Amino acid sequence: MTVLYLAHTECDNTLHKSALEGLAVAGDLAAGLGEDLAVGLIGGDVAAAADSIADCGAKFYAVSGADFADGRYASDLAAAEAIAKAVGPAIVIGPDTSRFSRALPGLAIRLGGRVDTHLSGFTAEGGKPVAKRWFYRQRMEGTLTRDERPWIVTLSSGIAAPFSGAGSAAVEAVSVDVSGVRTKVQGLECASEDAQTIRPDANLLFVAGAGWTKKQVDGATHVDVAETTIQTFLGATKASLGSSKSLVDISGEGGAVISFLTHMHQVGQTGATPRHPKGLATCCHGEEPHVVGWRFIKERRAINTDAGCGWAQGKCDVLYVGDAFAVMKKVNELLG
Ligand SMILES: Cc1cc2nc3c(=O)[nH]c(=O)nc-3n(C[C@H](O)[C@H](O)[C@H](O)COP(=O)(O)OP(=O)(O)OC[C@H]3O[C@@H](n4cnc5c(N)ncnc54)[C@H](O)[C@@H]3O)c2cc1C
Repeated sequence: MTVLYLAHTECDNTLHKSALEGLAVAGDLAAGLGEDLAVGLIGGDVAAAADSIADCGAKFYAVSGADFADGRYASDLAAAEAIAKAVGPAIVIGPDTSRFSRALPGLAIRLGGRVDTHLSGFTAEGGKPVAKRWFYRQRMEGTLTRDERPWIVTLSSGIAAPFSGAGSAAVEAVSVDVSGVRTKVQGLECASEDAQTIRPDANLLFVAGAGWTKKQVDGATHVDVAETTIQTFLGATKASLGSSKSLVDISGEGGAVISFLTHMHQVGQTGATPRHPKGLATCCHGEEPHVVGWRFIKERRAINTDAGCGWAQGKCDVLYVGDAFAVMKKVNELLG
């Protein structure tokens, strides 16, 4: 029974990095199970995307055309269903993009299968597919198997190296009639890169702590300077922005706030657990409930005026004891 990997193209007709990562997982799984791999592509024009992964050893299927260029539950589901029915797979895998997170659970209903979402791994063990999934805010990783087929799963990003292997792909077109779909796509409005400061693919996580809004040595607060300094750094480096709980909570307490921070930025026990190769904490004390959110950050640095802060207690690789306002001003100058 075939392993079917589904992917959709982006607005520039390429495949997103997470789609290439998922393909690597699907290819390894099919090889481990001794099954065939099929790839189903959905998008406006999928020819370039198919060629970009032609070497993955799969048979290619595609539903393409203007109706499938943008994410829309009804057309994505109809396309996925048509490809699945052409392939007859035991397992269907897709990346957990917003498009597929919406559409693929519906596919499980249409095919009478089961779905598991946001998997952190999917491998062949002893001839059986075994899924991995994080529980309890990524503190425990569980493994699960299922007897029901087709088993439909979505994979989280960052769990495998992206597949690479371009060539010339022969693609079997699958036609789908969506003329009866009432939802019309009016257009897609993307957040500008500068407005969107949570960037999961960034190499660096920049954490802003409450110290940025506290009284400084001159006895005054300088939130406006803090905002400009942080924004200049993020603009130059395209780092991802994180925050401590104290800082994002300040708005509720009526204090001076960094205007572009929301609770979505909070890193820690009751916040996010991002995965970036490097992290830099500024004006953040490094208390345990915050630092547990750094579990997957490999190289950690912090800037704090207090040489005895939490980061100094073995929680970072390098602690710069200094004024983050001055240090980041200098860093911004060096970045030009
Ligand atoms: C159940 C529970 C869950 C929690 N969950 C989370 C969570 O998910 N995430 C989280 O972040 N917290 C969480 N907390 C809160 C956490 O314990 C801390 O209170 C919080 O992380 C402190 O934030 P902070 O370090 O930004 O602020 P502060 O503790 O106020 O630290 C500010 C730091 O800035 C430094 N500083 C000031 N000015 C400068 C300067 N010019 N240059 C350099 N350094 C400067 C100070 O020395 C100080 O160390 C939780 C707490 C509890 C009880």
